[in-house]
Amino acid sequence: MTSCVFCKIAQGDIPAQIIYEDESVIAFKDLSPKAPVHVLIVPKKHVQSVAHFQVEDKELAAHIFVDVVPKLAAQLKLTDAGFRLVMNTGSDGGQSVPHLHVHLLGGRKMTWPPG
Ligand code: 5GP
Ligand code: ZN
Repeated sequence: MTSCVFCKIAQGDIPAQIIYEDESVIAFKDLSPKAPVHVLIVPKKHVQSVAHFQVEDKELAAHIFVDVVPKLAAQLKLTDAGFRLVMNTGSDGGQSVPHLHVHLLGGRKMTWPPG
């Protein structure tokens, strides 16, 4: 059995507040939200990070950004005001869960640069 927490959520083995799901992607509320809206968009397939995408993942990557992000942004009423996508990658990138995920943050003004 996998020890990956996001694989477990994708398989329904541990609970999450799921707001979107399709054949290849699941999106759920972050346990420790950093903004009024903080959702994690996660491929059901275990890919460690964006640095580990393979050629065969092109459709999945496009699906996440072309289909799921705009749909979720609209569903969460963030399209007009805007939002931030974050993909922490590896140790210096601050990635704490080694299963690729896109943070979708919104509902407040973001600052720049990130910490
Ligand atoms: P990272 O630091 O890897 O970019 O982001 C991991 C995110 O996953 C963090 O924001 C953290 O709060 C969230 N997280 C970690 N474990 C769980 C969990 O079991 N359930 C949910 N919903 N979020 C989690
Ligand atoms: Zn995983």
